[in-house]
Amino acid sequence: MADQDLNENSGSYWLKTCPETNFQPLKPGLKVDTVIIGGGIAGITAATLLKDMGYDVAVLEADRIVKEVTVGTTAKISVAPNMIYHDLIEKFGKNVALKIAKANKNALKQIEELVSTKNIDCEFHKTPLYIYTESSAGMKKIEEEYIAAKDLGFDVELNDHNPLPFKTMCSLKYTNQAQFHPRKYLLALAMEIDGNGSHVFEKTHAITVHDGDVKEVVTDKGSIMASNVVIATHTPFYDPDHLKDHLNQGRSYVMGLYTKKEFPDGMFVEFNPVHTYRTTPTSEGQLVIVAGEHSEMYVENSHIYYDRLETYARNHLDVESVKYRWSSHDSVTDDGLPMIGMTSKNSIYVATGFGFWGMNNGTTAGMVISDLIHGNESYLKDIFDPLRFNY
Ligand SMILES: Cc1cc2nc3c(=O)[nH]c(=O)nc-3n(C[C@H](O)[C@H](O)[C@H](O)COP(=O)(O)OP(=O)(O)OC[C@H]3O[C@@H](n4cnc5c(N)ncnc54)[C@H](O)[C@@H]3O)c2cc1C
Repeated sequence: MADQDLNENSGSYWLKTCPETNFQPLKPGLKVDTVIIGGGIAGITAATLLKDMGYDVAVLEADRIVKEVTVGTTAKISVAPNMIYHDLIEKFGKNVALKIAKANKNALKQIEELVSTKNIDCEFHKTPLYIYTESSAGMKKIEEEYIAAKDLGFDVELNDHNPLPFKTMCSLKYTNQAQFHPRKYLLALAMEIDGNGSHVFEKTHAITVHDGDVKEVVTDKGSIMASNVVIATHTPFYDPDHLKDHLNQGRSYVMGLYTKKEFPDGMFVEFNPVHTYRTTPTSEGQLVIVAGEHSEMYVENSHIYYDRLETYARNHLDVESVKYRWSSHDSVTDDGLPMIGMTSKNSIYVATGFGFWGMNNGTTAGMVISDLIHGNESYLKDIFDPLRFNY
């Protein structure tokens, strides 16, 4: 949940700068090709791609769409969230790492294509991603990551400088990455899903799924029938394979602030300890979004983490005012890769475990699941197989 209760200036910037939605609850008695449960980036992307392929879809959202983890994000769309490729090659081998690299390039391209073909006004902006370190101990790791990323075909540079307004030791630059306003993007997609035999239903809490050739999704507003079901509820609410046993939840903290001097264009990730930066245009000028600090999912006093993040930000930037702050959670699987694909129940799919990287992984989930439903092969089927921990 994106916490909204800290003070009057707190809450997700993305949520505060979009209108409320008002889709109707489910009308019982309907049948569609695919029911998608969950109105975050994973569910809305899957529904969009399936509808574009010609299927009738219904998105069921317990509350209002795009109000949970997806508004807790910092919305950097990047082929790497942090340092991953050296470890991926070590752990899974180069062939698997190459497929994951391809998936991440394709997810970025997919978002760009949807923004362009549907003409979505969501501040989509191409910009580089820099992964940097402030410690000389981190330099060797960045050099290793540079070699791995280059080996996998990424357009990367290793530099001893970057545009940040404070001293760093070295950084790895991925060119042509992107950032956007995630709620503007997803609300625009949702408006296109609803209509012509497809639906977005809000205030409709899914309770269970009855398996069979035709599936029945039971909700607090009645049932809906479908040939396929996609569980995109962040943590799966329907979990015949006990996937939750392989999800490790954590929380991270964000603030939106104004600085006295202009902050450089780009997205920046300090790899350890993790801090990230990006900017977004607002009516009051350029807002700098700083994220960092990590905790258990449930903490008694979140102020400790916000205070630490604010101290960190003030030590690094000339802060004029802190305008927004929020926190949210995400889950990391036991092997660090998302779980995307079919459950042990035929034609019931799941997408979870995005590891604080759901702009890419949530988009990949939509792409993989829509491909599988359409009968296409997916090169990611085995790698992201949700059942891989059960074999
Ligand atoms: C602080 C932070 C920063 C991040 N920054 C980035 C970043 O820069 N780049 C990046 O790629 N990723 C980032 N992420 C990760 C990314 O935000 C998430 O991985 C992603 O938003 C998860 O999307 P989702 O669709 O799985 O979940 P959600 O957005 O939570 O959507 C799930 C939906 O399902 C609904 N639901 C749940 N149960 C039911 C039910 N029974 N019936 C009906 N509906 C139900 C919920 O109400 C919710 O709307 C960040 C995450 C955090 C916490």
